[in-house]
Amino acid sequence: MQWREWISRQLTAEAPAPVQEAGARAAAMFAARLTFEGVERRYGDTYALHHVDLDIAPGEVVCLLGPSGCGKTTLLRIASGIEKPSAGRVLINDREVAGPNAFVPPEQRSVGLMFQDFALFPHLSILENVAFGLRRLPREEARRAALAVLARVGLQKFADGYPHTLSGGQQQRVALARAIVPRPSVMLMDEPFSGLDVQLRDEMQEETLALLRETRATSLIVTHHPEEAMRLGDRIAVLRAGRLVQFDKAEKLYDHPADLLVARMFSEINEVAYAVSGGGIDTPLGRLEAPAGVKQGEAAVVCIRERGVEVKSAGQGLPGRVLHVRFLGDIDLLEIGVQGFEAPLRVRTPHYAHWAKGAEVLIEVDPARLLVFPANGAISA
Ligand code: ATP
Repeated sequence: MQWREWISRQLTAEAPAPVQEAGARAAAMFAARLTFEGVERRYGDTYALHHVDLDIAPGEVVCLLGPSGCGKTTLLRIASGIEKPSAGRVLINDREVAGPNAFVPPEQRSVGLMFQDFALFPHLSILENVAFGLRRLPREEARRAALAVLARVGLQKFADGYPHTLSGGQQQRVALARAIVPRPSVMLMDEPFSGLDVQLRDEMQEETLALLRETRATSLIVTHHPEEAMRLGDRIAVLRAGRLVQFDKAEKLYDHPADLLVARMFSEINEVAYAVSGGGIDTPLGRLEAPAGVKQGEAAVVCIRERGVEVKSAGQGLPGRVLHVRFLGDIDLLEIGVQGFEAPLRVRTPHYAHWAKGAEVLIEVDPARLLVFPANGAISA
Protein backbone atom coordinates (compact mmCIF):
# COMPACT_ATOMS: atom_id res chain seq x y z
CA MET A 1 0.00 0.00 0.00
CA GLN A 2 1.31 3.44 -0.87
CA TRP A 3 1.41 6.34 1.59
CA ARG A 4 -1.30 8.30 -0.24
CA GLU A 5 -3.62 5.35 -0.38
CA TRP A 6 -2.93 4.73 3.26
CA ILE A 7 -3.63 8.31 4.26
CA SER A 8 -7.06 8.25 2.59
CA ARG A 9 -7.90 4.98 4.26
CA GLN A 10 -6.62 6.00 7.61
CA LEU A 11 -8.22 9.43 7.58
CA THR A 12 -11.62 8.20 6.52
CA ALA A 13 -11.66 5.37 9.04
CA GLU A 14 -10.72 7.46 12.03
CA ALA A 15 -13.49 7.94 14.57
CA PRO A 16 -12.69 11.29 16.09
CA ALA A 17 -13.67 12.50 19.50
CA PRO A 18 -15.72 15.67 19.91
CA VAL A 19 -13.75 18.79 19.16
CA GLN A 20 -13.53 22.25 20.58
CA GLU A 21 -14.81 25.44 19.10
CA ALA A 22 -12.94 27.47 16.51
CA GLY A 23 -10.01 29.34 17.98
CA ALA A 24 -9.63 26.89 20.82
CA ARG A 25 -6.42 25.02 21.36
CA ALA A 26 -6.27 21.48 20.03
CA ALA A 27 -7.90 19.30 22.65
CA ALA A 28 -5.85 16.94 24.75
CA MET A 29 -6.06 13.26 23.95
CA PHE A 30 -5.01 10.10 25.67
CA ALA A 31 -1.32 9.72 25.16
CA ALA A 32 -0.20 6.25 24.15
CA ARG A 33 2.92 4.19 24.82
CA LEU A 34 4.50 2.93 21.60
CA THR A 35 6.71 -0.11 21.95
CA PHE A 36 8.79 -2.07 19.46
CA GLU A 37 9.96 -5.43 20.77
CA GLY A 38 12.63 -7.25 18.79
CA VAL A 39 11.24 -5.92 15.53
CA GLU A 40 12.82 -7.34 12.39
CA ARG A 41 12.02 -6.71 8.75
CA ARG A 42 13.57 -8.82 6.03
CA TYR A 43 13.23 -8.45 2.28
CA GLY A 44 14.53 -11.78 0.97
CA ASP A 45 18.02 -12.07 2.43
CA THR A 46 18.25 -8.34 3.19
CA TYR A 47 17.56 -7.12 6.69
CA ALA A 48 16.00 -3.65 6.72
CA LEU A 49 15.67 -3.92 10.53
CA HIS A 50 17.48 -6.19 12.99
CA HIS A 51 15.82 -6.83 16.31
CA VAL A 52 14.87 -3.25 17.18
CA ASP A 53 13.74 -2.62 20.76
CA LEU A 54 12.32 0.85 21.37
CA ASP A 55 9.95 1.98 24.08
CA ILE A 56 8.43 5.43 23.63
CA ALA A 57 6.62 6.88 26.64
CA PRO A 58 3.13 8.38 26.35
CA GLY A 59 3.38 11.92 25.03
CA GLU A 60 7.09 11.63 24.29
CA VAL A 61 8.61 13.03 21.09
CA VAL A 62 11.30 10.73 19.70
CA CYS A 63 13.41 11.44 16.65
CA LEU A 64 14.60 8.59 14.52
CA LEU A 65 17.97 9.59 13.13
CA GLY A 66 20.24 7.81 10.71
CA PRO A 67 21.74 7.79 7.23
CA SER A 68 19.81 6.94 4.10
CA GLY A 69 18.74 3.31 3.91
CA CYS A 70 19.22 2.56 7.62
CA GLY A 71 15.58 1.50 8.08
CA LYS A 72 13.89 4.66 9.43
CA THR A 73 10.94 4.64 7.05
CA THR A 74 10.54 0.89 7.43
CA LEU A 75 10.18 1.28 11.19
CA LEU A 76 7.60 4.04 10.67
CA ARG A 77 5.66 1.92 8.19
CA ILE A 78 5.65 -0.96 10.64
CA ALA A 79 4.35 1.33 13.40
CA SER A 80 1.60 2.58 11.09
CA GLY A 81 0.57 -0.92 10.03
CA ILE A 82 1.37 -0.48 6.33
CA GLU A 83 4.04 -3.14 6.75
CA LYS A 84 4.20 -6.14 8.98
CA PRO A 85 7.35 -7.05 10.89
CA SER A 86 9.04 -10.32 9.87
CA ALA A 87 9.58 -10.98 13.57
CA GLY A 88 8.96 -9.16 16.85
CA ARG A 89 6.00 -7.15 18.08
CA VAL A 90 4.63 -3.61 18.05
CA LEU A 91 2.47 -2.53 20.96
CA ILE A 92 0.36 0.58 21.46
CA ASN A 93 -0.49 1.04 25.10
CA ASP A 94 0.72 -2.50 25.77
CA ARG A 95 -1.75 -3.94 23.25
CA GLU A 96 -0.13 -5.92 20.46
CA VAL A 97 -0.95 -4.28 17.15
CA ALA A 98 1.54 -6.32 15.10
CA GLY A 99 3.20 -9.59 15.97
CA PRO A 100 2.63 -13.31 16.20
CA ASN A 101 -0.65 -12.94 18.08
CA ALA A 102 -2.37 -10.01 16.43
CA PHE A 103 -2.44 -7.59 13.56
CA VAL A 104 -4.47 -4.42 13.91
CA PRO A 105 -5.02 -2.72 10.53
CA PRO A 106 -3.69 0.81 10.09
CA GLU A 107 -7.08 2.50 10.23
CA GLN A 108 -7.76 1.07 13.69
CA ARG A 109 -4.46 2.09 15.31
CA SER A 110 -5.21 5.76 15.97
CA VAL A 111 -2.03 6.90 14.28
CA GLY A 112 -1.56 10.10 12.29
CA LEU A 113 0.96 10.48 9.49
CA MET A 114 2.82 13.36 7.96
CA PHE A 115 5.17 13.24 5.00
CA GLN A 116 8.00 15.13 3.41
CA ASP A 117 5.85 16.19 0.42
CA PHE A 118 2.76 16.92 2.61
CA ALA A 119 0.58 14.73 0.31
CA LEU A 120 -2.31 17.21 0.19
CA PHE A 121 -5.20 16.45 -2.16
CA PRO A 122 -4.90 19.08 -4.93
CA HIS A 123 -8.56 18.93 -5.99
CA LEU A 124 -9.88 19.58 -2.47
CA SER A 125 -10.00 22.97 -0.78
CA ILE A 126 -7.83 23.60 2.25
CA LEU A 127 -10.83 23.11 4.51
CA GLU A 128 -11.85 19.92 2.70
CA ASN A 129 -8.31 18.61 2.99
CA VAL A 130 -8.36 19.07 6.73
CA ALA A 131 -11.95 17.85 7.14
CA PHE A 132 -11.22 14.78 5.03
CA GLY A 133 -10.35 12.79 8.09
CA LEU A 134 -13.62 13.70 9.76
CA ARG A 135 -16.06 12.44 7.16
CA ARG A 136 -17.74 10.25 9.70
CA LEU A 137 -18.82 13.29 11.64
CA PRO A 138 -21.92 15.27 10.66
CA ARG A 139 -20.86 17.72 7.97
CA GLU A 140 -21.23 20.87 10.05
CA GLU A 141 -19.40 19.38 13.00
CA ALA A 142 -16.52 18.27 10.76
CA ARG A 143 -16.38 21.75 9.26
CA ARG A 144 -16.22 23.38 12.68
CA ALA A 145 -13.50 21.02 13.82
CA ALA A 146 -11.44 21.56 10.67
CA LEU A 147 -11.81 25.34 10.98
CA ALA A 148 -10.74 25.18 14.63
CA VAL A 149 -7.54 23.36 13.73
CA LEU A 150 -6.93 25.64 10.74
CA ALA A 151 -7.29 28.60 13.08
CA ARG A 152 -4.82 26.96 15.44
CA VAL A 153 -2.22 26.84 12.67
CA GLY A 154 -3.07 30.38 11.55
CA LEU A 155 -4.68 29.50 8.21
CA GLN A 156 -8.39 29.98 8.80
CA LYS A 157 -8.60 32.69 6.15
CA PHE A 158 -7.29 30.29 3.49
CA ALA A 159 -10.00 27.71 4.18
CA ASP A 160 -11.66 28.05 0.76
CA GLY A 161 -8.41 28.22 -1.22
CA TYR A 162 -6.59 25.29 -2.79
CA PRO A 163 -3.22 23.76 -1.84
CA HIS A 164 -1.36 25.06 -4.92
CA THR A 165 -2.07 28.66 -3.84
CA LEU A 166 -0.18 28.18 -0.56
CA SER A 167 3.51 28.53 0.19
CA GLY A 168 5.53 25.52 1.32
CA GLY A 169 5.24 26.47 4.96
CA GLN A 170 1.49 26.98 4.68
CA GLN A 171 1.06 23.62 2.98
CA GLN A 172 3.05 22.07 5.77
CA ARG A 173 0.68 23.62 8.31
CA VAL A 174 -2.33 22.24 6.42
CA ALA A 175 -0.77 18.79 6.39
CA LEU A 176 -0.12 19.10 10.11
CA ALA A 177 -3.69 20.24 10.74
CA ARG A 178 -5.04 17.33 8.71
CA ALA A 179 -2.90 14.82 10.56
CA ILE A 180 -3.79 16.17 13.99
CA VAL A 181 -7.53 16.84 13.55
CA PRO A 182 -8.63 13.23 14.15
CA ARG A 183 -6.58 13.45 17.33
CA PRO A 184 -4.42 10.35 16.86
CA SER A 185 -2.65 9.04 19.94
CA VAL A 186 0.52 8.44 17.91
CA MET A 187 1.96 10.77 15.28
CA LEU A 188 4.40 9.37 12.75
CA MET A 189 6.28 11.95 10.72
CA ASP A 190 8.58 11.07 7.84
CA GLU A 191 11.06 13.92 7.29
CA PRO A 192 8.27 16.48 7.62
CA PHE A 193 10.55 19.51 7.28
CA SER A 194 12.94 18.50 4.55
CA GLY A 195 10.90 20.19 1.81
CA LEU A 196 11.21 23.59 3.51
CA ASP A 197 13.98 26.15 3.27
CA VAL A 198 16.19 26.59 6.31
CA GLN A 199 14.52 29.66 7.82
CA LEU A 200 11.02 28.28 7.42
CA ARG A 201 12.17 24.94 8.75
CA ASP A 202 13.18 26.49 12.08
CA GLU A 203 9.82 28.21 12.40
CA MET A 204 7.83 25.11 11.45
CA GLN A 205 9.82 22.92 13.81
CA GLU A 206 8.85 25.18 16.70
CA GLU A 207 5.19 25.34 15.66
CA THR A 208 4.93 21.61 15.10
CA LEU A 209 6.53 20.82 18.42
CA ALA A 210 4.14 23.19 20.19
CA LEU A 211 1.15 21.49 18.57
CA LEU A 212 2.43 18.01 19.39
CA ARG A 213 2.88 19.09 23.01
CA GLU A 214 -0.63 20.52 23.15
CA THR A 215 -2.22 17.41 21.72
CA ARG A 216 0.07 15.14 23.75
CA ALA A 217 0.50 12.87 20.76
CA THR A 218 3.28 10.36 21.21
CA SER A 219 5.48 11.19 18.24
CA LEU A 220 8.08 9.46 16.14
CA ILE A 221 9.81 11.83 13.72
CA VAL A 222 12.22 10.63 11.05
CA THR A 223 15.09 12.93 10.22
CA HIS A 224 18.52 12.91 8.59
CA HIS A 225 19.63 15.94 10.56
CA PRO A 226 21.20 15.61 14.03
CA GLU A 227 20.47 19.26 14.82
CA GLU A 228 16.79 18.81 14.02
CA ALA A 229 16.71 15.69 16.16
CA MET A 230 18.30 17.57 19.07
CA ARG A 231 15.86 20.40 18.71
CA LEU A 232 12.71 18.31 18.52
CA GLY A 233 13.29 15.05 20.32
CA ASP A 234 12.87 14.36 24.01
CA ARG A 235 15.05 11.43 23.06
CA ILE A 236 16.81 10.41 19.88
CA ALA A 237 17.02 6.90 18.46
CA VAL A 238 20.05 6.45 16.23
CA LEU A 239 19.65 3.72 13.61
CA ARG A 240 22.42 2.34 11.46
CA ALA A 241 22.13 -0.51 8.97
CA GLY A 242 18.85 -1.58 10.54
CA ARG A 243 20.16 -1.66 14.09
CA LEU A 244 19.40 0.64 16.97
CA VAL A 245 22.82 2.01 17.92
CA GLN A 246 21.84 4.35 20.75
CA PHE A 247 18.62 5.70 22.26
CA ASP A 248 18.93 8.53 24.70
CA LYS A 249 18.58 12.23 25.39
CA ALA A 250 20.54 14.59 23.13
CA GLU A 251 22.97 15.53 25.92
CA LYS A 252 23.88 11.89 26.46
CA LEU A 253 24.41 11.31 22.75
CA TYR A 254 26.62 14.38 22.63
CA ASP A 255 28.62 13.71 25.78
CA HIS A 256 28.75 9.91 25.60
CA PRO A 257 28.26 8.78 22.01
CA ALA A 258 28.14 4.99 21.65
CA ASP A 259 30.77 4.94 18.93
CA LEU A 260 32.81 7.04 16.55
CA LEU A 261 30.03 7.34 13.99
CA VAL A 262 27.59 8.70 16.57
CA ALA A 263 30.29 11.10 17.80
CA ARG A 264 30.69 12.39 14.23
CA MET A 265 26.94 12.98 13.97
CA PHE A 266 26.74 15.22 17.00
CA SER A 267 29.88 17.34 16.88
CA GLU A 268 32.65 18.41 14.58
CA ILE A 269 35.74 16.53 15.67
CA ASN A 270 39.42 16.11 14.92
CA GLU A 271 40.26 12.41 14.77
CA VAL A 272 43.78 11.31 15.58
CA ALA A 273 44.78 7.62 15.54
CA TYR A 274 47.28 6.16 18.01
CA ALA A 275 48.51 2.66 18.77
CA VAL A 276 47.57 1.27 22.15
CA SER A 277 50.56 0.51 24.34
CA GLY A 278 50.45 -0.98 27.83
CA GLY A 279 46.69 -0.40 28.14
CA GLY A 280 46.94 3.30 27.30
CA ILE A 281 47.54 5.80 24.52
CA ASP A 282 50.31 8.38 24.63
CA THR A 283 49.20 11.67 23.09
CA PRO A 284 50.56 15.21 23.19
CA LEU A 285 47.61 15.94 25.51
CA GLY A 286 48.75 13.31 28.00
CA ARG A 287 48.27 9.58 28.49
CA LEU A 288 44.71 8.36 27.96
CA GLU A 289 43.07 5.08 28.84
CA ALA A 290 42.67 2.70 25.90
CA PRO A 291 39.08 1.87 24.94
CA ALA A 292 37.81 -1.51 26.15
CA GLY A 293 38.64 -4.40 23.86
CA VAL A 294 41.49 -2.69 21.98
CA LYS A 295 44.64 -4.77 22.29
CA GLN A 296 48.31 -3.88 22.35
CA GLY A 297 49.38 -2.39 19.02
CA GLU A 298 45.85 -1.91 17.75
CA ALA A 299 44.57 1.52 16.85
CA ALA A 300 42.38 3.79 18.88
CA VAL A 301 40.99 7.09 17.67
CA VAL A 302 41.16 10.14 19.90
CA CYS A 303 38.44 12.69 19.12
CA ILE A 304 39.11 16.33 19.90
CA ARG A 305 36.02 18.47 19.51
CA GLU A 306 36.56 21.53 17.33
CA ARG A 307 34.63 23.56 19.91
CA GLY A 308 36.44 21.95 22.84
CA VAL A 309 39.84 23.58 22.39
CA GLU A 310 40.82 26.70 24.29
CA VAL A 311 43.09 29.02 22.32
CA LYS A 312 45.09 31.65 24.22
CA SER A 313 48.14 33.80 23.92
CA ALA A 314 49.69 33.17 27.36
CA GLY A 315 49.59 30.69 30.21
CA GLN A 316 49.56 26.90 30.14
CA GLY A 317 49.14 24.84 27.01
CA LEU A 318 50.69 23.24 23.94
CA PRO A 319 52.37 25.72 21.63
CA GLY A 320 50.97 26.14 18.15
CA ARG A 321 50.61 28.50 15.23
CA VAL A 322 47.46 29.59 13.44
CA LEU A 323 47.86 28.41 9.84
CA HIS A 324 44.51 29.38 8.45
CA VAL A 325 41.41 31.33 9.51
CA ARG A 326 37.98 30.95 7.95
CA PHE A 327 35.20 33.35 8.92
CA LEU A 328 31.96 31.43 9.54
CA GLY A 329 29.81 34.19 11.03
CA ASP A 330 29.71 34.08 14.80
CA ILE A 331 32.65 31.75 14.85
CA ASP A 332 36.00 31.39 13.11
CA LEU A 333 37.28 28.02 12.00
CA LEU A 334 41.01 27.95 12.67
CA GLU A 335 43.61 25.49 11.53
CA ILE A 336 46.37 25.35 14.07
CA GLY A 337 49.66 23.50 13.72
CA VAL A 338 50.15 22.16 17.25
CA GLN A 339 53.35 20.75 18.69
CA GLY A 340 53.21 16.95 18.77
CA PHE A 341 50.40 16.61 16.19
CA GLU A 342 51.26 15.62 12.62
CA ALA A 343 48.22 17.26 11.06
CA PRO A 344 46.83 20.69 11.96
CA LEU A 345 43.89 20.74 14.39
CA ARG A 346 40.63 22.42 13.38
CA VAL A 347 39.38 24.67 16.14
CA ARG A 348 36.19 26.75 16.33
CA THR A 349 36.54 29.96 18.31
CA PRO A 350 34.22 32.93 18.77
CA HIS A 351 34.78 35.41 15.96
CA TYR A 352 35.33 38.24 18.45
CA ALA A 353 38.57 36.52 19.57
CA HIS A 354 40.05 37.64 16.20
CA TRP A 355 42.87 35.18 15.83
CA ALA A 356 44.98 36.05 12.82
CA LYS A 357 46.89 33.79 10.49
CA GLY A 358 50.46 33.36 11.76
CA ALA A 359 49.59 34.04 15.43
CA GLU A 360 51.64 32.08 17.97
CA VAL A 361 49.16 30.54 20.40
CA LEU A 362 48.78 28.03 23.22
CA ILE A 363 46.05 25.46 23.16
CA GLU A 364 44.45 23.61 26.02
CA VAL A 365 41.97 20.73 25.91
CA ASP A 366 40.04 19.41 28.88
CA PRO A 367 40.97 15.68 28.91
CA ALA A 368 37.50 14.90 30.29
CA ARG A 369 35.99 16.16 27.03
CA LEU A 370 38.09 13.91 24.82
CA LEU A 371 36.46 10.83 23.34
CA VAL A 372 38.40 7.67 22.59
CA PHE A 373 37.09 4.84 20.41
CA PRO A 374 38.47 1.69 18.85
CA ALA A 375 39.58 2.18 15.25
CA ASN A 376 39.12 -0.66 12.83
CA GLY A 377 42.35 -2.56 12.13
CA ALA A 378 45.80 -2.26 13.70
CA ILE A 379 48.43 0.37 12.95
CA SER A 380 52.13 -0.01 13.53
CA ALA A 381 53.19 1.08 16.97
P1 ATP B 1 15.91 7.13 3.53
O1 ATP B 1 16.43 8.01 4.61
O2 ATP B 1 16.73 7.16 2.29
O3 ATP B 1 14.44 7.27 3.29
P2 ATP B 1 15.50 4.89 5.33
O4 ATP B 1 16.43 4.94 6.48
O5 ATP B 1 14.12 5.36 5.55
O6 ATP B 1 16.14 5.60 4.07
P3 ATP B 1 14.25 2.45 4.48
O7 ATP B 1 13.45 3.07 3.37
O8 ATP B 1 13.56 2.04 5.70
O9 ATP B 1 15.49 3.36 4.85
O10 ATP B 1 14.98 1.18 3.85
C1 ATP B 1 15.82 0.33 4.63
C2 ATP B 1 16.41 -0.74 3.74
O11 ATP B 1 15.40 -1.64 3.33
C3 ATP B 1 17.06 -0.22 2.48
O12 ATP B 1 18.21 -0.96 2.21
C4 ATP B 1 16.00 -0.46 1.43
O13 ATP B 1 16.60 -0.65 0.18
C5 ATP B 1 15.34 -1.73 1.93
N1 ATP B 1 13.94 -1.81 1.52
C6 ATP B 1 12.95 -1.00 1.92
N2 ATP B 1 11.77 -1.34 1.36
C7 ATP B 1 12.04 -2.43 0.59
C8 ATP B 1 11.25 -3.27 -0.27
N3 ATP B 1 9.93 -3.07 -0.41
N4 ATP B 1 11.88 -4.27 -0.91
C9 ATP B 1 13.20 -4.49 -0.75
N5 ATP B 1 14.00 -3.74 0.03
C10 ATP B 1 13.43 -2.72 0.67
